[in-house]
Amino acid sequence: MSACPGACLICGSARFAPLFTASDRLYHTTAKLFSVVRCGDCGLIRLHPPPAPDELHRYYPDNYWFAPDSSAASRLEEAYRRLVLRDHVRFAAQAIAHSRAHGPLLDAGCGGGLFLGMMRQRGVRVLGLDYSREAAAIAWRRQQAPAVCATLDAAPFRAGSIGALTMFHVLEHLYDPRAYLTAARELLEPDGRLIVQVPNAACWQFRLLGRRWNGVDVPRHIFDFRGRDMEMLLHGCGFEVVRRKYFSLRDNPAGLASSLAHWLDPMARRVRRIRESGGTRLAKDLAYLALVAASLPFTVLEAAFGAGSTVMIEARRR
Ligand SMILES: [Zn+2]
Repeated sequence: MSACPGACLICGSARFAPLFTASDRLYHTTAKLFSVVRCGDCGLIRLHPPPAPDELHRYYPDNYWFAPDSSAASRLEEAYRRLVLRDHVRFAAQAIAHSRAHGPLLDAGCGGGLFLGMMRQRGVRVLGLDYSREAAAIAWRRQQAPAVCATLDAAPFRAGSIGALTMFHVLEHLYDPRAYLTAARELLEPDGRLIVQVPNAACWQFRLLGRRWNGVDVPRHIFDFRGRDMEMLLHGCGFEVVRRKYFSLRDNPAGLASSLAHWLDPMARRVRRIRESGGTRLAKDLAYLALVAASLPFTVLEAAFGAGSTVMIEARRR
């Protein structure tokens, strides 16, 4: 164990042990090696040391967002995204049904806003927030979802005005996830619901694939939470867990496919601006889709044992 200047987010311990080093396997934004460590006391896994903000900024490609064009491959991708997002939509709709809150749903880290568009089509009032101005603009333009460019702890919304707040794959990217959870608690109505989703480092995929598991997404993921880490963090920020789900149709099979063949990952090919003809792009997309389908049984099985590669949690204020 080494002494660590940065204390553990969950338990405050300064002790940690190195797990592995890795580079940006998915998007190739840098060749630099980063080190991933495990807390010597609570076991929380994190990037250590995390890149400085101006450095981290460079590891987020500017074409990170899905903006469909009129090509066949793009139409296929949007149809696929809608199909697999129904899982998230259903989970959020159930959380809203459980609650007596009346305020709108706010999606923090809304990206291009497809989720918000689908919730809006179900009659839910929606708001979006994203760190990227371009993403917020796409959400507004393509999904008619009013979206602001801001961080959640500086969001221009009244305290106690939000009925449901969703954060899908956001917290693992932040230096201070606690600041977002504290802000979420303030923004929510008393019986409002928080829904968070993060990769689950207690999954079988991580055990089998180690640093090749795409859930670690070095260097963009500062933390690699297990479900229990996430629950401790939520509890410490004044939330109680209502429901948890270890399977996500959008994320788990695709995550395994991208771990096994990251060069086929459609987003990685777009981000890396790999030059492909329309036919090649469609062929690679179909090969990726076949790999995703082949990954489905394993990901369903690991989730059935509470070791799915993502965890989605519904929580309410304590
Ligand atoms: Zn710890």
